[in-house]
Amino acid sequence: MYAVGYVRQSKERKDRESISPETQIEKIKQFAKLQETKVVKIFRDIDISGFRVHYSKRTGLMDMLEYIKANNIKKVYVYNLARLSRRIKDFLEITNELEKYGCSVVSATEMIDMSTPQGRLFRNIMLSFNEYYSDSLSATIHDNHMKNVELKKWNGGHAPFGFSWNKADQKFEKNKDYETLLLIREKAVNMWGVKKISNHLNRRNILSPNGGKWTSQAVKYILLNPFYRGYLQYDGKLYESPLAPKVFSPEDWEKIQENLNRYVNLGPRGKATPHLLTGLLVCGACNSRMEIRYNGSNRVRRYICSNRQNGFVDKCSSSLLDADGIEQAVIKHIKSLTITRYIDQIIEEAQKISRPKANDLKSEIRHLERELEKVIQGQKELYEETFIRKNVTKERFYEMNRIFEEERQRLEEEIKELYKQMNAVDITYIFDYKEELENFSTVFDALSKEEQRTAIHSLVDKIVVHDECATIHLPVGKTKIKSTSNKRGTLYFM
Ligand SMILES: [Zn+2]
Repeated sequence: MYAVGYVRQSKERKDRESISPETQIEKIKQFAKLQETKVVKIFRDIDISGFRVHYSKRTGLMDMLEYIKANNIKKVYVYNLARLSRRIKDFLEITNELEKYGCSVVSATEMIDMSTPQGRLFRNIMLSFNEYYSDSLSATIHDNHMKNVELKKWNGGHAPFGFSWNKADQKFEKNKDYETLLLIREKAVNMWGVKKISNHLNRRNILSPNGGKWTSQAVKYILLNPFYRGYLQYDGKLYESPLAPKVFSPEDWEKIQENLNRYVNLGPRGKATPHLLTGLLVCGACNSRMEIRYNGSNRVRRYICSNRQNGFVDKCSSSLLDADGIEQAVIKHIKSLTITRYIDQIIEEAQKISRPKANDLKSEIRHLERELEKVIQGQKELYEETFIRKNVTKERFYEMNRIFEEERQRLEEEIKELYKQMNAVDITYIFDYKEELENFSTVFDALSKEEQRTAIHSLVDKIVVHDECATIHLPVGKTKIKSTSNKRGTLYFM
């Protein structure tokens, strides 16, 4: 029988290190020989990512498809399936295309021959999806996979917000509150305080877990629940469990912690930090947070990039920042937003584009979320095939799971980005924001230092400081203030 081989090497580091084209070819030929098949031609795509480049842009692959069609080739040998594509969607499209010509894929290292029932199982795993599942399975399995299998028997109790326990199938299922859970995550990751989040939910008449009004405590409880990070409680201890979907990725969790700590650091009333902008100021040169430092014998307050503060002068040499000046300038600027037409213009713009755009975004998000569910379901089936039904070797599992992982991460990123865009055209939100701005202007001067700080934090996402200006990132857009001078390494804004 005649076959062709396909070799892909990308610039991604892990690929370059491990699988050279020569190694791939050698392995392909070896395996084909075992199957008494002659590889008549090798097609290559070198330095092309199997992840970011759509497969139709790969000339080697496209030539190969032509060749297969013209020469009635029945098998394509690859080093591993990831060579064909790291994106499940592309992978399925390629194999569908091949199927049209009666051609199937053989992976030399994974020993998957798609013309066999075993090989078909893999395609079916990839195709048959519809439920939620946890990520980083490999970590779970390294840990103690028997424990996790045991944990399939969840001992009941109150299912976490956003999920219901399906007794028949022994698994958690998303329920009607899941959307709200994602909203809370989204806002928390974007540094909204718990109070602001609960207000937001109440304004939208979304019911709390108890079916009533949201409190900041309720929001905080959700953010801290280890279930959403993939843990279940068992015998009084926390275990990573494939049953608990990782709604919060490690990056989300890092942000959430940072967010919650921001308020913890305020300390009890009266002991509040007098520094209005800590936690908001970001060094424009190196992207790290800015902290307070008392300078000289007069102990003047300066904000300083934390890299510099910690002595990493080689990493960053940004200017110090006159604290009183930047604080006054930011307050004045926020107050001015209600007087200038800044917000009104944002509303006008949003009104122009909002409805069709929001609908587009919504359906795109829905589409991607469905795809994500499929991927997650695929992971679950793979897991079960490997560790419960034992139809799949662990080596194969790791390889396949990696493909799923990468696809999942890509989808999650895209969804996150779309939610961000949704916020930008969400008119109700902008109206709420405008109201909050007006309140700010009216009452700010009457507030305690601590309350002032909270008020600024609830209106501003972050402030990035450069030498010539500071960019204030608001949830509805960005605005700039110009610096007034830079004297002996200290930057002034007033
Ligand atoms: Zn810096």
